[in-house]
Amino acid sequence: MAPSTETADVVVVGGGTAGCFAAATAAREGLETVLLERKSAKEAGHIACGDGIKGKSKFPDVVDRERLRTESFTNESITRGIFENPRTGETIDVDFGESGAVVDRYRYGQVLLDETERAGVEIHYDTVVNDVIQPDARVEGVRAVRDGDPVDYEAEVVIDGAGALSVLQDKIDFSASAFDTNVNYSQFCSAYREVLELPEPVEWEDALVFKPTEELGYLWYFPRSATEINAGLGFQMTEEPMELVDVLKDDLANRADFEGATVKNKLGAALPTRRPYDSAVHPGYVAVGDAAAHVNPCTGGGIPGAAKAGHWAAEIAAEAISDGDVSEAGLWEYNHRVQTDFGKRFAAMDLYNIFGTAHGVDDLVSVVTALPGQQIVDAIGKKGTTEMSLGLKLKTVLKTIGHWGTLYDLYKVQKEAVSLKDVYDSYPDDPGRFDAWRKERDALMDRVYEITGAEPKY
Ligand SMILES: Cc1cc2nc3c(=O)[nH]c(=O)nc-3n(C[C@H](O)[C@H](O)[C@H](O)COP(=O)(O)OP(=O)(O)OC[C@H]3O[C@@H](n4cnc5c(N)ncnc54)[C@H](O)[C@@H]3O)c2cc1C
Repeated sequence: MAPSTETADVVVVGGGTAGCFAAATAAREGLETVLLERKSAKEAGHIACGDGIKGKSKFPDVVDRERLRTESFTNESITRGIFENPRTGETIDVDFGESGAVVDRYRYGQVLLDETERAGVEIHYDTVVNDVIQPDARVEGVRAVRDGDPVDYEAEVVIDGAGALSVLQDKIDFSASAFDTNVNYSQFCSAYREVLELPEPVEWEDALVFKPTEELGYLWYFPRSATEINAGLGFQMTEEPMELVDVLKDDLANRADFEGATVKNKLGAALPTRRPYDSAVHPGYVAVGDAAAHVNPCTGGGIPGAAKAGHWAAEIAAEAISDGDVSEAGLWEYNHRVQTDFGKRFAAMDLYNIFGTAHGVDDLVSVVTALPGQQIVDAIGKKGTTEMSLGLKLKTVLKTIGHWGTLYDLYKVQKEAVSLKDVYDSYPDDPGRFDAWRKERDALMDRVYEITGAEPKY
């Protein structure tokens, strides 16, 4: 059957956080926008997630943020983290310094899609994108199956918010651009979570609980409320595969708080735990959110990055369309915004992830549990780099006897993380200087591999 054809200014693939914020922004910019989502209207928004959002919502102002907050943020009282030592059971409390939230992820997804539609976007559910239209270098649209029938969607710009390991990137010929194709599964994490209902309230409703696991990941317990907990875990795909369901079951069995708990929902997925793509644009095409690795590679937090990236991609696409230039250079400003904002922070965090691959869990736990609280907060994402006073340094040194080599390596990695942020601050504002920039960045990465002894990640 010959496909029918639809046309729009912008076609967005994927109705997750990145896709919704991209589509809502594009529609508010006055562009005719279609969003394609493979799931049904009822299932859309049901996405595997820990449901934790750092800080209060700083979402782009293109949807009714107050409605999103009141209808889906079920716990806005998160102020601290509890880090558990898997060997001794000891815990350390870390004050987050700012409050965070836990959401009902399905409700959040449904409200966001509804708000996206209200912004003027046409949403096609039950529409699976399986190919791109690329007669020459430029991506001119996508091919999809909608309710069982083939449909071609033609557009000036395609925004890819199809999530981790997006199928569009398998189909596009990127040889005419600098789009980052140095991507493989070992830079991802496999994760699984359950939503549990408890008969009795927990006493840590104001905390996110973390516990490191053997396979370079962590278990988490995030309270949607005092009696509804999102419990999950993940492992880095460089490591031996982990029996996620069984490991979680064992851990839950050893926690008195979870006696008599019932499982309301189970879901797993892959998420990127790597630096953001060096370039996420190609003529007629921009990748956003998980599809461009906009996730903190140490915590797995990807919702805020996805929202920002979607918003910026649509703003830049609108400018490019109005200038009549959707070439790589015409869309490049998007790369610049990402890399000089959260991109540099996530790239710096990635160095700690690389450091982790070169050390055993004992080493890491000893170092982490000796670090003062603020260090950990900084290291998991506030700044992407850490600072320590001399007094704290001495205390840390005493507590880490037996692991000084590791601590010294960590110190050197921290210094490289600071330099790396400077390198990202000088990310080029046009594709012409990109190769020289990348050479400088790669030289720094070589130093990191040398310090840590880790296998090159890229
Ligand atoms: C287990 C787990 C726990 C996590 N915990 C947290 C957390 O606590 N806090 C946090 O901030 N982040 C967390 N993350 C990361 C966060 O969920 C992602 O970074 C975020 O959802 C990315 O949004 P996105 O819009 O890019 O992709 P997604 O949310 O994955 O959305 C992609 C959308 O595209 C659709 N789609 C995919 N392929 C196609 C196709 N071919 N055709 C049509 N539609 C398609 C999908 O159905 C989906 O709706 C977690 C991730 C996992 C896996």
